[in-house]
Amino acid sequence: MSKIRFKALEKTLSRKPVKISEKKRRSAIFGKNVFNQETMRQYLTKDAYNGVKDAIDNGSKIDRNIADQVSSAMKDWALSKNVTHYTHWFQPLTGATAEKHDAFFETIGDGKAIEKFGGGQLVQQEPDASSFPNGGIRNTFEARGYTAWDPTSPAFIYGTTLCIPTIFVAYTGEALDNKTPLLRALSAVDDAATAVCKYFDKNVKKVTASLGWEQEYFLIDSALAASRPDISLTGRTLLGHSSAKGQQLDDHYFGTIPNRVLSYMRDLETECMYLGIPVKTRHNEVAPNQFELAPIYEESNLAVDHNSLLMDVMGKIAERHDFKVLFHEKPFEGINGSGKHNNWSLSTNTGINLLSPGKTPMSNLQFLTFFINTIKAVYDHEELLRASIASASNDHRLGANEAPPAIISVFIGSQLTHVLNELEGVTKGKLSPEEKTDLKLNVVGKIPDVLLDNTDRNRTSPFAFTGNKFEFRAVGSTANCANPMTVLNTIVAKQLKDFKVAVDALIAAKGLKKDEAIFNVLREYIKASKNVLFEGNGYGDAWEKEAKKRKLSNNKTTPEALKARISKKTIALFEEMDVMSKVEVEARHEIELEEYTLRIQIEGRVLGDIARNHVVPTAIKYQNILIENVKGLKDIFGKDYKKHAKEQINLITQISTHIEGINTKVDKMINERKKANKLHGQKAADAYCNKVKPYFEEIRYHCDKLEILVDDELWPLTKYRELLFTK
Ligand code: ADP
Ligand code: MG
Repeated sequence: MSKIRFKALEKTLSRKPVKISEKKRRSAIFGKNVFNQETMRQYLTKDAYNGVKDAIDNGSKIDRNIADQVSSAMKDWALSKNVTHYTHWFQPLTGATAEKHDAFFETIGDGKAIEKFGGGQLVQQEPDASSFPNGGIRNTFEARGYTAWDPTSPAFIYGTTLCIPTIFVAYTGEALDNKTPLLRALSAVDDAATAVCKYFDKNVKKVTASLGWEQEYFLIDSALAASRPDISLTGRTLLGHSSAKGQQLDDHYFGTIPNRVLSYMRDLETECMYLGIPVKTRHNEVAPNQFELAPIYEESNLAVDHNSLLMDVMGKIAERHDFKVLFHEKPFEGINGSGKHNNWSLSTNTGINLLSPGKTPMSNLQFLTFFINTIKAVYDHEELLRASIASASNDHRLGANEAPPAIISVFIGSQLTHVLNELEGVTKGKLSPEEKTDLKLNVVGKIPDVLLDNTDRNRTSPFAFTGNKFEFRAVGSTANCANPMTVLNTIVAKQLKDFKVAVDALIAAKGLKKDEAIFNVLREYIKASKNVLFEGNGYGDAWEKEAKKRKLSNNKTTPEALKARISKKTIALFEEMDVMSKVEVEARHEIELEEYTLRIQIEGRVLGDIARNHVVPTAIKYQNILIENVKGLKDIFGKDYKKHAKEQINLITQISTHIEGINTKVDKMINERKKANKLHGQKAADAYCNKVKPYFEEIRYHCDKLEILVDDELWPLTKYRELLFTK
């Protein structure tokens, strides 16, 4: 074993789990570092509390006087917890979170100082924003950016810093972050869904979209991870021969959690409790060293913030345990990658989950309304939904050999399929009393019973109904959920808005009763969007062929998929729903394309370096040993040596072939990179995708072959079996 590998392994094997003691119940520490409603009630005057509460519930503006009171209270609370700094915490379009800490400390002359935090500093700040991606917005408008307090997501303390969740926008108003469009989309879906709810219950005042994400990740010992330049720089292995044992025995999923990992998880969960992230579930995933963490679902904006915060915290806690967390969608070839299922539902201020069937036929009609409208929304905008989860790393799952496919379809289970089939036959126009009764008793009325038995879960579906929520499973593990959630809530908002118009028109023009009109519109929606429903195996070629017939998109790569982000239809949609302007949509598209290009560029560079500077020299060393051996055999056996050196010569030849393969392919790849670097935007991304990236597999092939030919003692790169099975 090479020295680097040996040292890394030795370090790893000598690690002991960090001792974690949980002295307090989790419920007792939950939200202790959050400026939540309970804390606010304690620290704020009644006026200030009501002001903030009204902003949270109804989106009203907070005036300066109240902001001053809130900031002062926040400061007192933070100081009581030994906090020294504050920061506006936001999510620029890098996908990660950003923070710049300022001390409360302020001098007041005479060599004296105080702790200060005013309303102005709480409400708005101007970070030096020139280094965040803006997709040309700032050049076009010469606008500076500022961050503004989002009172709907409570401030929290992390370490010794008070973090204030904020939006990040240009002075001209364009969003420069992930949160702003999400908040607008959530407001749009609230308006549209509340209006539709009024058909069923006049008391509904607000509809909230919920999100429950499930975060998958790999944990690798930090010494092993550091020994691999590809993991360090790209978050995944760019080469590495598969281990003899992978996940074929199915012995990892839900298996016993290793001690070191469990200690990490407990430490992490404790931190999450303080931060108010309601983590609940933890388990081993399918691949070795792969795990999952899921919280109790929350209002979407808060859930998105919590997921972003969690990913950050996971990395920090991992350092304490000498782990590196890999969020990449496909860190290892040949075993499962990671995703982030986004469980989504809508619920009313009266406490009703609109995607959960109720007890009466009318509440079930309400359920069906939201259920069918969601399906129609997904059908109408499947390509945009696919684009919302496109990234260089997620391309390794979607459209590659991994669940789910790049084709967006909806799984609803056999019983609900049956219900939709029945509804498709509803009479046009007025319904007879018999038909109404039959619908109520035998179709709509039966839904709760059939759903109790909704156990046929289809793991290959990218968008599945699972009893009382839809599960968007195609989201990547590295993703910021804001992006897919913005799209999903926007398309559902648009759909519900159209639905309301259609139903009202039928009532007005044809004099139909409300439920008749609803049945009529739903019937047409079922007919129109049937093509997106798919219950079969999403992996197979058969589905690709079938999907093509159904005219569903199958955009396998990010540059292809992203085109839907700037189509006329998309821009019209976002503008109509007041979620994003054309400028904002185009800026995002530009940023996403560029990010794709840069990621593939980095991978190409790293792979070229490893192949040439690590693999080839190692192969030559081993080849020289073989050559020495052959020379020695010649000395002993003279003319007869070939009989004894046959296999060695064969190995020498094979090694030469692979070295040649690597060198020529790396040259060609570099050449393509040079050409691609002269291009911009879509063309650059296309070139990286179609001309540069294909060499990755070819170069890897030769490297991996050499890995199993070359003496293990010489091989410098930590192998898959070591990365995946060292505990
Ligand atoms: P799995 O999909 O792994 O079988 P569950 O269905 O139990 O697991 O739940 C997964 C996630 O779905 C959890 O994060 C949970 O909080 C979330 N979830 C459950 N109900 C809802 C809902 N009505 N809306 C949104 N998310 C939900
Ligand atoms: Mg799930």
